[in-house]
Amino acid sequence: MGTRISRISGRMVLDSRGNPTVEVDCLTEDGKMGRAMVPSGASTGRHEAVELRDGGSRWGGKGVDTAVSNVNGPIADALVGLDASDQGVVDTAMMTIDSTSNKAKLGANAMLGASMACLRATVGDGEIWQHISDGQASIPVPLMNILNGGAHANSNVDVQEFMIVPHGFESYPEALRAGVEIYHSLRSVLRDAGLLGGVGDEGGFAPDLPCNEDGLRYVMEAIVSAGYQPGNQVSIALDVASQEFLHDDGYHIDGKIMDGSELGRLYSSWLDSYPIVSIEDPFGEDDWDSWTEFTHREGHRVQVVGDDLYVTNPDRLAKGIETGASNAILIKLNQIGTVTETLVVIGMAKAAGYGTVISHRSGETADSIIADIAVGTNAGQIKTGAPARSDRTSKYNQLLRISEKCDNFSKLFQHR
Ligand code: PGA
Ligand code: ZN
Repeated sequence: MGTRISRISGRMVLDSRGNPTVEVDCLTEDGKMGRAMVPSGASTGRHEAVELRDGGSRWGGKGVDTAVSNVNGPIADALVGLDASDQGVVDTAMMTIDSTSNKAKLGANAMLGASMACLRATVGDGEIWQHISDGQASIPVPLMNILNGGAHANSNVDVQEFMIVPHGFESYPEALRAGVEIYHSLRSVLRDAGLLGGVGDEGGFAPDLPCNEDGLRYVMEAIVSAGYQPGNQVSIALDVASQEFLHDDGYHIDGKIMDGSELGRLYSSWLDSYPIVSIEDPFGEDDWDSWTEFTHREGHRVQVVGDDLYVTNPDRLAKGIETGASNAILIKLNQIGTVTETLVVIGMAKAAGYGTVISHRSGETADSIIADIAVGTNAGQIKTGAPARSDRTSKYNQLLRISEKCDNFSKLFQHR
C-alpha cells in the first residue's frame, strides 16, 4: 500500500506568541512526507479538548514534552502500518488509545498534529482542498480582525475582535485588497486620533478606547476613508468573547455590569447603527438562555456564531441546534482534536442550515491548513486575523494561491 505510514515523529516548535507547540511529521512507504503544526488559544473555552502542557517552571509551564512523547510513543505505535489516506481509521485509532471524552490522556495537541500530518502525507504534492472537497469548493469570505481587544491585547477594550468582512467583491484577491487597504487606513485613523500603539496577538491594532462602541466608529471611519462603502462592500463582524468578562454578578462591559438580556439590548442597538453581519460569542459558554433569546430576536438580521459555546463539539452543537441558540458555528480543529471529527461537525452544521466559520487561534503557526479546509468544505467564511504578520498572512496567501485554480468566491453576505 503506497500511503502506508512508515514513521510518525513529533517535536516541539514555537508558536506566534513564543510558546511551545507540537509539530508532527508523517512519512509513508511511498516516500511522501506530511508535516503539520498545532495552534493554541488564549481565550479558550472550558469545554475544549485538552491541550496537554507540562506545567512546572520550564517554558512558563507551557512545555509540550509530554505531548511530543505521546506522539513518538503511543500515537506512533498505533499509526505506523495504517494507511494514511484512511483518515477515519487513523483518527479512530488515536481516539481508541486515548479513551477519554476530552483527549485528556494523549492531548488534543498531540492528536491533531498527527491527524493533520497524515492528511498532508496522503495529499503529497496535491491540494488538500481538492482532496477533501465533495465537488463544491469556494474561496471563503475573510473575517479580518483589524482591532484587537480582550484577552488578545493589553488594552481596556472588552470586545476581543473587531473584524471587517469584505463581501461585496467579485473575487477573493479584490476582497483581500480592500481588507488590506482598510487595515492600513485604520492605522492612519488611529494615529490621527493619537491612539496608535502596538498590535495585539492577531496583528490588529490594540488601542485603549473610551468605550467599546468607539471600536465600531473607528472601523467605520477606516472603511470610508479607504474609499469603500460600509454595508454594500464591507461590513463588520465582532467576536465579543464575552466569557472573558462574565463574572458571578454578570457581564462587565464599559464599566457597567449587565445581565444577558441587557447585554443583548446593547448589541441590538449596535445592529441598528452599524453594518454588523456577524456576532461571535455574545454570551458566556453556558448561558444558553441568553443565546436563545438573542438569536430568536436578531437571528434574521445577524449571524450569531458559537465558539466557546460549541468548541467544535458535536454534542454541544446538537444542543444548540435543538434550542436555537445560534445560527452559525466557529470551527477550530484543536478544540476537538482530529480532522475527521472536525469535518463531521462542519457537515452537521451545514445540514442544520448553520453558517460555518473556519478559524485560526490567537497563538498560530505558519501552517495554513485552515485555508484549504475552508475552501474544500465550501464553508463560506474564514477568520484568520489581521492581514499582517506571517502567522496570519500565511492563510490569506494560501487562499491567493488556491484562487488561481478556484475562482468561486463565496457570495455570502452579498445580498443583505
Ligand atoms: P483564541 O481566540 O484562539 O484565543 O481562543 C480566538 C477566538 O476566540 O475566536
Ligand atoms: Zn471566539
